[in-house]
Amino acid sequence: ATTLADEIGIALANLAESATGTFVPTLRLGVTGLSRAGKTVFITALVQNLVASGRLPAFAPVAEGRLLGGALTEYPDRAMPRFAFEQHLAALSADPPSWPESTRRISQLRITLRYRSTRWTAGLRGTSTLHLDIVDYPGEWLLDLPLLAQSYAQWSAATLERMRSRGGEDASPFLAALAATDPLAPASDPTAETLARVFTAYLRKSREDGRALSALAPGRFLMPGDLEGSPALTFAPLPPRDDAAPSASLHAMLERRFEAYKSVVVRPFFRDHFARLDRQVVLVDALRALNAGPAAVADLETAMTEILACFRQGEVNPLLRPFSRRIDRILFCATKADHIHHTSHDRLERILNRLVGNAANRARFAGTRTASLAIAALRATREGSFREGGETFPTIIGRPEPGETLDGVTYDGKSEIALFPGDLPDDPDRVFDDGAGPGLRFLRFLPPDLPRGPDGQLILPHIRFDRALDFLIGDRMR
Ligand code: GDP
Repeated sequence: ATTLADEIGIALANLAESATGTFVPTLRLGVTGLSRAGKTVFITALVQNLVASGRLPAFAPVAEGRLLGGALTEYPDRAMPRFAFEQHLAALSADPPSWPESTRRISQLRITLRYRSTRWTAGLRGTSTLHLDIVDYPGEWLLDLPLLAQSYAQWSAATLERMRSRGGEDASPFLAALAATDPLAPASDPTAETLARVFTAYLRKSREDGRALSALAPGRFLMPGDLEGSPALTFAPLPPRDDAAPSASLHAMLERRFEAYKSVVVRPFFRDHFARLDRQVVLVDALRALNAGPAAVADLETAMTEILACFRQGEVNPLLRPFSRRIDRILFCATKADHIHHTSHDRLERILNRLVGNAANRARFAGTRTASLAIAALRATREGSFREGGETFPTIIGRPEPGETLDGVTYDGKSEIALFPGDLPDDPDRVFDDGAGPGLRFLRFLPPDLPRGPDGQLILPHIRFDRALDFLIGDRMR
């Protein structure tokens, strides 16, 4: 539950923002998605495209010649880590290029954009300015919001029930450890640590197999950020009790830690960061799920439903209302669309729509505009074709990452190949029955050698990234 103090804190923060915002409006854009969805690459591309005049024909301020420039400027919140843009760009443009290090915690960055407005009042002001504040955070953290409305007993009951009914073999080490534990024994750090370790191993295992994304909470156990090893992250579920456990017992200790997790980890994240976002982009690696088969697709849909629930909590649970009231646009992106030929991009978009569409319908977004796009923030392949038996097959050409294998061939990361990636099914419902079917041939590619623009700046080739930008910020730069 939120407290009155939370509400006042959020209200004051918003007020302070609008007070300074009379001079420069600020748009706070959240970028999220599950691990490896493409957040780091997306933000690196976003910054480079805006500060170094990328090729963005479908982004209205560029198309209309009104974008005058963008620059990285100082971020107002000095307590938050900065997104390591320069380091990430350096990795992508190194020789040989490599993908940057993925998101592991929250970070932020501010770009200040100068543009010519189309509004009649703008003539009086000359150029207009917008601060774009980008907040990068792991999607896993969103899975924690429901915890704020749960007690330790409720959470334990639900988690243990899920482990017993669906956890299978992955759950047995924890259930065995639990059976050997006396919850009323004196509180002990080593026992708490052991239980937490075995419990975390279970969470990790179920995710690796792609089976139980929906069972991921508490999200920080998988993406601890800077909190790894702290007591607030050292607990596990215990069988719920009817009466209160003695305060010196293990049970009471773990309950206190669960409460601490809520109050020092979950609530500050939602109050200080999530609740203050204006817009959100949710990145989804749908191709990886499609490639892994129908079980992974179903799981991805479940995880998306849970993530999207964060954007409608206010309607459902009044206690969580302060955490969700600002976001007015959400963009869903299926990332890495350069893994398939452009003739399949619309199909990928339909599949994404199907994956989040149901979730979005269930979420009943009130007053929030949503859109779905298939994109590549950094395009690592080109397109070609080959003819065989009188038929023409569209191909993608790129350098597979070292160690990738296909049809018994293992690639060394040095040479380019042309690959017929196959077709995605036309009917998005089919992916729930058979994933991508036998059709999809999916390989990880190395980043491309980046071309340079007229001023020597690095150009990041992309797919539909300008359309994503236009939806996310175009209307705020009219
Ligand atoms: P994060 O965990 O969400 O920050 O994910 P990253 O941005 O680090 O992306 C994870 C991996 O996905 C990268 O290392 C790349 O291998 C791949 N990837 C991300 N974006 C793209 C893209 O636009 N095209 C291609 N081909 N691969 C991408």
